[in-house]
Amino acid sequence: MSEILACPECGEIKQVTTTFSQMLLVNSGRHYCTSMKTHDADSPANCLKCSWKGERKDLKPAIK
Ligand SMILES: [Zn+2]
Repeated sequence: MSEILACPECGEIKQVTTTFSQMLLVNSGRHYCTSMKTHDADSPANCLKCSWKGERKDLKPAIK
């Protein structure tokens, strides 16, 4: 397992999401590349509990 990240606002662990985005060729719909991956520091992150939005690098490591 990789490190556990928590929401910087409310400390939520389970309901924190990250996002990846894919580039598709507009005319064929074919996959071009994955421009942003879930483990990239600048991938968009959301907390479903308190509605915080930010980037993955803003998440803080959970205290075990
Ligand atoms: Zn939160």
